[in-house]
Amino acid sequence: MGRITLDKVSKSFGDVQVIPPLDLTIDDGEFTVFVGPSGCGKSTLLRLIAGLEDVSSGQIRIDKQDATHVPPAKRGLAMVFQSYALYPHMSVRKNIAFPMKMAKVPVEEQNRRIEAAANALNLTDYLDRRPGQLSGGQRQRVAIGRAIVREPSAFLFDEPLSNLDAALRVGMRLEISELHERLETTMIYVTHDQVEAMTMADKIVVLQAGVIEQVGSPLELYHTPRNKFVAGFIGSPK
Ligand code: ADP
Ligand code: MG
Repeated sequence: MGRITLDKVSKSFGDVQVIPPLDLTIDDGEFTVFVGPSGCGKSTLLRLIAGLEDVSSGQIRIDKQDATHVPPAKRGLAMVFQSYALYPHMSVRKNIAFPMKMAKVPVEEQNRRIEAAANALNLTDYLDRRPGQLSGGQRQRVAIGRAIVREPSAFLFDEPLSNLDAALRVGMRLEISELHERLETTMIYVTHDQVEAMTMADKIVVLQAGVIEQVGSPLELYHTPRNKFVAGFIGSPK
């Protein structure tokens, strides 16, 4: 579960093609990072996979099924944004439970999953608080918890740590990497931060103006960048 394939996927907004047709395979269980400068199309690509934008052409397959025109809620994916998008009037417990309530998961099962997510994310003591009573890092953990309880076949992160201060960011990177080890679930992580890309990724996809410049492991990109853009962006010596 969790293999995602893009076949000649493109995206235009009006007359402007922001993603020319591209092919990409994300393997099951892999931690893939989309990296590139602001405006290069990282969020658009992630939103196409999530189904929050329609493709202009091409096909998206998730677990071998054609998902190109499947609505977002039916793709089995969970997205975590930079703005936590929590409900301020609901407790942490209710925020985490919300997607399960929508999906009519039985209450006992909801409680089991909430306990497990709270344990994994060190939120056990905060379940009765409201988001306004939490730190930025804790709020982002609640947003991740809300994704976990959906038991998605893949997690999609769009710059989840860019609102956090530098020290907290380092800790949260580690937490997300550990979560990936534990869950063994496909994760796609968008960032413009090459340090995040180099430290977290199994596979990095380098984008420039909607074009994939190179795909490879952090070491491959560092030692054998295909061009000056990749070398410059990854910070390799060549
Ligand atoms: P990134 O996430 O890498 O910063 P985006 O995917 O947000 O880049 O944007 C890629 C390009 O597509 C930008 O030029 C942006 O202005 C454009 N774009 C994104 N969303 C829309 C939209 N809904 N309508 C028009 N243009 C958009
Ligand atoms: Mg973006």
